[in-house]
Formats: sequence, structure tokens, C-alpha cells
Amino acid sequence: MENATRFTDPGYGLWPFTAEILVRCPACEGLATVTKAPDSENGRTRRLTCTGCGHNTSWTAPTLPGGNSWSIPGARGPYDPYFHRPVWLRAGCCGGHSLWAYNVAHLDLLDRFIGAELRERGQWASCGEWTLIEALPLWMKAAKNRDELVRTIRRLRATLPG
Ligand SMILES: [Zn+2]
Repeated sequence: MENATRFTDPGYGLWPFTAEILVRCPACEGLATVTKAPDSENGRTRRLTCTGCGHNTSWTAPTLPGGNSWSIPGARGPYDPYFHRPVWLRAGCCGGHSLWAYNVAHLDLLDRFIGAELRERGQWASCGEWTLIEALPLWMKAAKNRDELVRTIRRLRATLPG
């Protein structure tokens, strides 16, 4: 398949996408973003900001016993791990399932995976932790769902400003 669109698993999990998460604002239900506070040590403090209503709040990872480290919750979704707000990019599809993404880069990755004719594992050596792509549910990998998934992703993109 010379001209087949090819997708190679980049080999990472959800974590890189937690740098910016699009969520529903707790005050107005509009589009808000959760980002690392620029002045925070290793992203320890996260900030939720809504440009629509001006709501903003912050979250700081609690210090662990012993006092010199802290615990950042793992990323699972479809909620942000800090404020537990539902993600903005989320839609029902394929019979009761829910497609979701933390941000546009995450949605782009799913889009490329779903649209690809050839899906390849990356070159990395798997060391226990599943990649985001490996962890996708079967209904997202099924060829029969491809058209509906592509339409759902397009619908989600249309909810974003600009
Ligand atoms: Zn708001």
C-alpha cells in the first residue's frame, strides 16, 4: 500500500496533554482552560481560566508526608485531574460511547489514528505503561465505526472558537 495513510504510535500516554486541558467553566459552562501556572515549580500549580466570564481559580498539588515532594494525580479523563471539570471536547458516538480529548493536539492525534489505513506500533520498547493509542477502547479501533468517529471529531472541532 504505497499511498496508504500511515500512522505510527508516538509512544506516549495522556500525560503530555495535561499541559493544557480544555474544560467546561464551573461558573458559566463556557470554554475554559486548565494550564500549568507559569510561576509554578514543575507544574505543581494549575490554573483554570475562563476568558468568557473571567472566572479563574488555582490548584496546588498537596505536599506528601516528609514535606519535600508532592503528588500530582494521574491523567485518565474525561475530566481534568485537578479541578475535576468535564472536558470540553467530548461527544457521544458509536452507540453510547463517548469520544473525548484534553485539547486540540490530543484530538489531532486521535484524528490521525482513526483516519489512517496503516497503523503501526512505534519503535520504542514497551516497558509496561500503555501508550494512549494502546489504551484506546476497541470501538475506537473498529473499521466499521470510522465514519462516525471522523464525523464526531469534525463536530467537536466546530465547537472551538476561531
Ligand atoms: Zn466562565
